[in-house]
Amino acid sequence: MTTIVKTDPENPSIQSIETAAKTIREGGLVVFPTETVYGLGANAYSSDACLKVFRAKERPPDNPLIVHISDMEMLKEVTLEVSDEILKKLEKVWPGPVTILLQKSPKIPGTVTGGSSLVAVRMPEGKVALEVIRKAGVPIAAPSANISTRPSITDSRHAIEELDGRVDLIMDCGPTPQGVESTIIDISGGGCTLLRAGAKPVEELEKIFGPIKVTDFSRGLHESTIPLAPGMKYRHYSPTKKLYLASNVELLQKISELGEWREKISIISSDEICRNSKLQCTGLGDGSDLDVIARNLFSALRELDKMDCTIGLIQPFPEHGKGLAIMNRIRKASSGLIEDLDSINMLLQ
Ligand code: AMP
Ligand code: MG
Repeated sequence: MTTIVKTDPENPSIQSIETAAKTIREGGLVVFPTETVYGLGANAYSSDACLKVFRAKERPPDNPLIVHISDMEMLKEVTLEVSDEILKKLEKVWPGPVTILLQKSPKIPGTVTGGSSLVAVRMPEGKVALEVIRKAGVPIAAPSANISTRPSITDSRHAIEELDGRVDLIMDCGPTPQGVESTIIDISGGGCTLLRAGAKPVEELEKIFGPIKVTDFSRGLHESTIPLAPGMKYRHYSPTKKLYLASNVELLQKISELGEWREKISIISSDEICRNSKLQCTGLGDGSDLDVIARNLFSALRELDKMDCTIGLIQPFPEHGKGLAIMNRIRKASSGLIEDLDSINMLLQ
């Protein structure tokens, strides 16, 4: 049975934190908010507890979990020695939405890292997350709370819809402020490589870590460059309804303003485009504010499944700042690229 505890994310009750911490210490599963998305957490030192995370999420065992810590003392426990130079850099980004790969200590079971000798570590900024870890006294291994392949969860109402009955406790704290997951970087090889674009923009991290290599992989490019080739890729962040990415904003706007395809296509776009859309449209917020777009993205992907339509069509956004993470998630969630009106007709035949 799942217990649901409602609390204010900015000022969580002591009781809610204690209940969550106790559940973690006893080897249970807790869904809790961070500043990025909701996590599904377990005691990172317990292989058995972490196995339950994989089971609850239906996550393949080779997809490793991020270990969340509350202070630098805990960092020492979960990793092998970290140089002073790296520690100084970490102090500039933590607490915050940045995850770093480091050599794991023997205390972290291989279950957490998918057998790798590297562990992904983050000190979250979200008050609830930090306090639960601190109170539990152990690091928490927590992937995003969604069931594998589904969009990440950024609102507790979606956590309850998806996970009631699968976990011991859900902390009901409303929407999360950032809306996309942490940025993951690998500094283990000397340089710095982006493994996953996320809530902390690369431009800001470069000021601390120096030049960062942004690969096509981290942009989500290799997954969705083939126009109209659905079913050819590993599913990720996917709504049940097929989502397509418009190749440019003008095309999306044109499609939204044509009366054709009503009840067939649902648009996901900036509020400006929604305002003039003749098709049903979910607004992500002001198109020039990528922070707001990021915050609303995953909930909009989930809403698509509730819409009365055959497919979804989403707007592309500029790939700077938060936009890199936004486009990575959109590309991975999409089944293909729509480049002209003819491709829509083909799709809907
Ligand atoms: P999630 O928590 O669901 O956002 O997923 C965490 C992601 O972090 C994984 O899918 C990996 O891409 C990455 N990750 C976590 N641990 C490691 C690790 N030890 N080595 C490489 N990547 C990792
Ligand atoms: Mg995830």
